[in-house]
Amino acid sequence: RRAKTSSDNVVRYTSEMDQEERERRALAADMLRALEENEFFLHYQPQFDIRSMTVIGYEALLRWKHPEKGLISPGVFIPIAERHGLIQRIGDWVLEKACEETVDSDFEGRIAINVSGVQLSDPEFCERLKGTLVRTGMSPTRLELEVTETAIITDKQQALHALRQIRSLGIAIALDDFGTGYSSLDTLQSFPFDKLKLDQAFAGGLESSDQAKAIVRAVIALGKSFELPVLAEGIEKESQLDVLLAEGCHEVQGFLLGRPAVWESRQSHAEGVAAIRSAS
Ligand code: C2E
Ligand code: MG
Ligand code: MG
Ligand code: MG
Repeated sequence: RRAKTSSDNVVRYTSEMDQEERERRALAADMLRALEENEFFLHYQPQFDIRSMTVIGYEALLRWKHPEKGLISPGVFIPIAERHGLIQRIGDWVLEKACEETVDSDFEGRIAINVSGVQLSDPEFCERLKGTLVRTGMSPTRLELEVTETAIITDKQQALHALRQIRSLGIAIALDDFGTGYSSLDTLQSFPFDKLKLDQAFAGGLESSDQAKAIVRAVIALGKSFELPVLAEGIEKESQLDVLLAEGCHEVQGFLLGRPAVWESRQSHAEGVAAIRSAS
């Protein structure tokens, strides 16, 4: 009897995996169509200087409005795009679109764009990036690429080569989700970063855990010794902002200060923060 139950479980487990794999393949196939049908669009989330509380940049975040499934999160479809060889085309689209929308607007600050490790491992990536800058008229000094340690760990040599090339164009590099994943200090030493983005888990833990506060403090100190500004992600409460300000964090980003939104709606960000400041 026990054996039967366990083999039933195996069968169910396997068919669930097949089902998930089928869904992933269906999504991958849909993604190709999505590029042509303009189902992708970008949200932008403001990034603030913590002292002046002025917007210094926006992070572009990819969105997919699937005709049947509705809005699908990049956390779901980016890994599928990476596995099915679609991330280069999608990533190129993101770069081009973000540059276009920025250049067409009256905003003069910086745009941060997430780049996957698979994109960095493509030897042609940098050439295409240059093409995008030329086509859109975007200034490289206004561009920042966000990479994670997970993204650069697979092929460190190639990633290092790519990041050096990118940086020689005048583009800045931010290390995203810092404090999670591998976070080896050696990476800080050998890679040409311009900024550390402290993962949102730490701002989130600030009230409930002294450890989170200790990590925030340590990362800011680390930033200081490497001369890298630290941006804290995922700020949802004013109390988190107070701690980060006291600890000497440089930049902040989060739902409290501005949710990701289409480019045309970004004006509301400045107004929202003005409201937070006048209230406190
Ligand atoms: P990420 O780059 O670390 O982006 C931050 C994520 O946190 C975003 O989720 C953002 O909407 C969310 N967020 C911002 N503020 C808050 C907050 O106060 N509280 C909470 N709970 N969340 C907040 P999103 O847009 O779903 O993106 C998830 C991840 O997908 C990104 O993490 C990034 O790794 C990836 N991604 C998004 N767009 C792209 C893209 O164009 N290319 C690549 N390669 N990856 C992308
Ligand atoms: Mg990011
Ligand atoms: Mg992040
Ligand atoms: Mg992330």
